[in-house]
Amino acid sequence: MDAKGGPVDARELPSIGRLLDTADFAPSIQTHGRTRTLAALRAELDRLRACALAGELQRDAVHAGAIARRVGDALSEAAQPHLRAVFNLTGTVLHTNLGRALLPETAVQAVARALAAPLNLEFDLDGGVRGDREAAVERLVCELTGAQAATVVNNNAAAVLLLLNTLANRREAIVSRGELVEIGGAFRIPDVMRSAGARLTEVGTTNRTHPSDYADAISARTALLLKVHASNYAITGFTASVAAAELAALAQARGLPLAIDLGSGSLVDLTRWGLPKEPTVGETLAAGADLVSFSGDKLLGGPQAGIVAGRAELIARLKRNPLKRALRLDKATLAALESVLMLYREPDRLAETLPTLRLLTRPASAIEQQALRLLPAVREALQGKFDASVTPMHSQIGSGALPVDRLPSSGYRVRPAEGRRGGVSRLEAALRALPRPLLGRVADKALWLDLRCLEERDEAEFVAQWRLLHA
Ligand SMILES: *Cc1c(COP(=O)(O)O)cnc(C)c1O
Repeated sequence: MDAKGGPVDARELPSIGRLLDTADFAPSIQTHGRTRTLAALRAELDRLRACALAGELQRDAVHAGAIARRVGDALSEAAQPHLRAVFNLTGTVLHTNLGRALLPETAVQAVARALAAPLNLEFDLDGGVRGDREAAVERLVCELTGAQAATVVNNNAAAVLLLLNTLANRREAIVSRGELVEIGGAFRIPDVMRSAGARLTEVGTTNRTHPSDYADAISARTALLLKVHASNYAITGFTASVAAAELAALAQARGLPLAIDLGSGSLVDLTRWGLPKEPTVGETLAAGADLVSFSGDKLLGGPQAGIVAGRAELIARLKRNPLKRALRLDKATLAALESVLMLYREPDRLAETLPTLRLLTRPASAIEQQALRLLPAVREALQGKFDASVTPMHSQIGSGALPVDRLPSSGYRVRPAEGRRGGVSRLEAALRALPRPLLGRVADKALWLDLRCLEERDEAEFVAQWRLLHA
């Protein structure tokens, strides 16, 4: 036998069978089951054997208790779901990487019910016959936008794909060069066109496109005029683009449909809450667009979905396309979307009932008050190693909505304390490693934590995370 603490020979490793039946492994078996515990133990013994062969295995590492502890840790780690709640302190309300819009409680309950019990998804309870899974959502979209008809698919990228494939397959769609956008996550209008089988006819220049550019490009091969909302950039300076109404008049005169990809597509005029102007779906249809497509989880504040609203005859063609079946919404999303759209029937209460609008309309003064109230807990957690100060900052709406406008907000600017070396990246990583990670932004040698998206009901959990921090 080696002296205590000396290297251990691989032959001295305890056998799997002997270990698994010791009391040390009972808790793991109880929590994770015998099969998973056995697999984790086997992996741990393989690791120890490799260490032993390298002459690096220490005696205290092979005690049953120590092995059981490491196996237990590995099992608990592996049992953590990959997806978990975080705190969005980035200042971007509709953050694509953090899941975009948050659903109101009513919609969450509707989803839970839809998933846990059978429902009349495609069953008409009045007639006792087969029903249309989209009917309720379609009625709501028409009611709220003035559209004749509507259809819904997996997301707005799918909506654009479906409408291009239905209306312009093997034919041409005309788009302004100033609108050949790339949205994050590899959605590029020219690529979607190609996937849809449509040929792209670019007109105008990057900064200026005139009605005559469209008019001159129209030929017998033209199937569609497409206008794309400049979601995530702005062209400023010497610019010109053709407004929806003017383009609609041209399309109508030439007997062509006009489709407009609105991107975010708000259902209500946001200026009534002091937010920047975004064209609404209703206005765009009223301006003469034949089809308008937009996302469910951007400004609308609902689940991920793509909605196309417009002329009944065109929507009927979209619904008949076999692609539609591949892109259709599942029952959970339909339930969430119906529930969120219902809230729009009471627009006066939207700023309370719809989380996206509630967050976007939080006044900077209220956010500042909150930041001051929670500051002592943050300072205590930082233990004098970092300074946190309440600072005015600017939030963004995000997800390609209103790209240039910023919302005055407030939060913490955190920097290394006077005389302390090192940057904030270690702190940023520590906040990211918390059970419910606190996600901010590093810029100008500081960590910026914008409190716009911290709702009052989450404050206790927010403070609890800081208490767990060992900065
Ligand atoms: C966001 C956006 C899309 C993609 O929408 P998803 O719902 O994310 O698929 C398409 N077009 C425009 C103009 C957008 O802003």
